[in-house]
Amino acid sequence: MATPAQARVDLTAIRHNVALLKDQAGGAELMGAVKADAYGHGLVPCAATVLEAGVSRLGTAFVREALELRAGGVTAPILAWLITPDEPLDEALAQDIELSAADERLLDEIAAAVRRTGRTAKMHLEADTGMSRGGSPLAAWPGVLAKAMELRAEGVIEIVGLWSHFACADIPGHPSIEQQLEAFKSALKLAEQAGASGSHVIRHISNSAATMTLPDARYDLVRPGIAMYGLSPIPELGDFGLRPAMTLTAQVGLVKRVPEGSGVSYAHLYTTDRETTLGLVPLGYADGILRHATGRAEVLAGGRRRQIAGRVCMDQFMIDMGDDPLAAGDEVVLFGPGDGGEPTAQEWADTLGTITHEIVTRIGSRVPRVYEGRA
Ligand SMILES: *Cc1c(COP(=O)(O)O)cnc(C)c1O
Repeated sequence: MATPAQARVDLTAIRHNVALLKDQAGGAELMGAVKADAYGHGLVPCAATVLEAGVSRLGTAFVREALELRAGGVTAPILAWLITPDEPLDEALAQDIELSAADERLLDEIAAAVRRTGRTAKMHLEADTGMSRGGSPLAAWPGVLAKAMELRAEGVIEIVGLWSHFACADIPGHPSIEQQLEAFKSALKLAEQAGASGSHVIRHISNSAATMTLPDARYDLVRPGIAMYGLSPIPELGDFGLRPAMTLTAQVGLVKRVPEGSGVSYAHLYTTDRETTLGLVPLGYADGILRHATGRAEVLAGGRRRQIAGRVCMDQFMIDMGDDPLAAGDEVVLFGPGDGGEPTAQEWADTLGTITHEIVTRIGSRVPRVYEGRA
């Protein structure tokens, strides 16, 4: 069935990016971040692809994302790192999902689930080394470790990992990077003193940006996300040889000639300066084309770049083709790898003052993901 718009996902590009990351990681294991529907690229197909390509573990934010992977037939180890009260912990344990905790309250909640289900919890303990988001502050860390050791002694939990997350790995040379590495060393030292570390406990702190630029931060495992999808974690340093996997296209709906002086779309923010051809593109802010792209972002249509003409609406926006030919059904490319002259997701991010993570994760559920390059 033809659809008004689609996001083509090139799995060959994803395999290429994973191979590149594997090289970059030295001997460290790869945990592929597939949260948020694999950054909008489609959870299960992307998970299967990155696992084939050399990723050995998967990471999600929420338990329900991890359960979706299991339901999709994924058997690899999966860590869910953002656990809030009343998550389906029993089901997570039943499905062998590894869990992260950063305080004694959550360890208690998980212990209760273990006692209900009889399934030992595989835990990654998170230290806050300076981002002040998730993780245990170092002052509270000995208490978390002591609690974890107590539960381990009772056979309630297994300690699988010790981890943290960088605040500024995408800002090379930022002083917080060294400070966080030092704090991570301290956290690991405290874990060692508590008896919570050892050769079987994996240590991890690096996202894509750190994987690309901080060899000292690899430890036993790295957790790349954005780079697997081919988008640069540090655009200022170039593309690192990564290949963007997603191409977002739409089929032109209506095409029409309008006179000079025609106000286009809501609020008439754009007015034609001569008789011209307008084309209707069936993607809008409900599909993740930010309303803020109004009059800013470009698309490729009829072989040329065209700026979005007037307001982005919920389901559609207009482009002004001048006297160039355009027909209903013609393909418009919003972004892709850039090989065919289309904008890249990076260009969209730069134009809109955001990062590519936000551009691709916002593509909505009305847009089917179509896979190319299956192995
Ligand atoms: C999202 C996320 C990652 C991956 O980050 P990228 O910048 O996409 O590489 C790694 N670890 C955690 C905890 C995350 O939330």
